[in-house]
Amino acid sequence: MKLFRRGSSGREVADIQARLIAAGYLDAESEEARGAVFGDETDRAVRSFQQARGLISDGITGPDTWRCLVDACRSLGERLLYLREPPLRGDDVTELKRRLNSLGFYSGKEDGIFDSGTAHAIEQFQRNSGLEADGMVGAGTVEALLRLARVTKPTSVASVRESEKGLPTGGIQDRRIMLDPGHGYPPDPGAVGPGGLRESEVAEELADVLGGLLVDESATVLYSRRHGEYLSDSERVRRANEQTVELVVSLHLNDSTDPRAGGCSCFYFARGNYRSPYGNRLAHHIQDELIARLALQDCRTHGRAYRLLRETRMPVVVVEPAFISNPAEESLLLDPAFLRSVASAVLEGTVSYFSGVPSPREEEH
Ligand SMILES: [Zn+2]
Repeated sequence: MKLFRRGSSGREVADIQARLIAAGYLDAESEEARGAVFGDETDRAVRSFQQARGLISDGITGPDTWRCLVDACRSLGERLLYLREPPLRGDDVTELKRRLNSLGFYSGKEDGIFDSGTAHAIEQFQRNSGLEADGMVGAGTVEALLRLARVTKPTSVASVRESEKGLPTGGIQDRRIMLDPGHGYPPDPGAVGPGGLRESEVAEELADVLGGLLVDESATVLYSRRHGEYLSDSERVRRANEQTVELVVSLHLNDSTDPRAGGCSCFYFARGNYRSPYGNRLAHHIQDELIARLALQDCRTHGRAYRLLRETRMPVVVVEPAFISNPAEESLLLDPAFLRSVASAVLEGTVSYFSGVPSPREEEH
């Protein structure tokens, strides 16, 4: 899809604005919406929508923001929900899963995707409510869900149930781990440093070094892409899900318009009140190791709803060990010893994760 931003206009802009209005981010009386002009007001609305959804808040409507806007306009009960291929998705599904989880019918990650876990939870719920257990969420089932919600207190069991299923223990040997170097040049170099270094190539090199270290620990390493291959985010998601890996480490670099910005950070899946306990733990372990080994600023761990985090069936952490836009950090990234330290940090964090120990900071924020 084309990108729409400040200065765009036309039919697509009108459509974006209509959805922003429906989702409550843009005033229905907006002058800009009347003229289908993407100006400051629309820009602000897109940015706050993106921020609320855990997307990069840049005011640009591309495929990810568009998909979220489409999802945002669905409320539970508006359509029949059931298991199908490709799966139904939307805010109504998130709402359904949230309600099932809060009632003790574990339906998995509250990610807006109607998967087999959701269908299973619905059938259990229906059986318990004296409804026909057909896994179809129609008016009767929605009504029963809403009725029950009024008498139950709204605490999500998703996090509890995920930990009950057991955060992994038993070590890293034979674990199927996918390394996902971000971007892919050509055509997508990712961020480019002031000296011309490409994020995609640093990510590839880092993946190679890390892959070697993981193999030394007897883990099974898969790569989402080969050197110089370009993959869309949905293709990365598809490969990770199809290869049934137990964990994905996605390698990127941070960048900023401010050349002084620097440091390392890790991202895991979170949305609304939900936070993946696996992702959160892994991100903290890796972040702790990065901070201990690299003399860089601690930009901390953050919950996000990027597509790769949202639509994958296993814990995924996006690691951004440095800012490529910072000249000093760009030169560090050219140093093989530095890349090796980064790879060792990610390795040690992953080893701690699979040993089942919590990270000291994992309960923060
Ligand atoms: Zn990137």
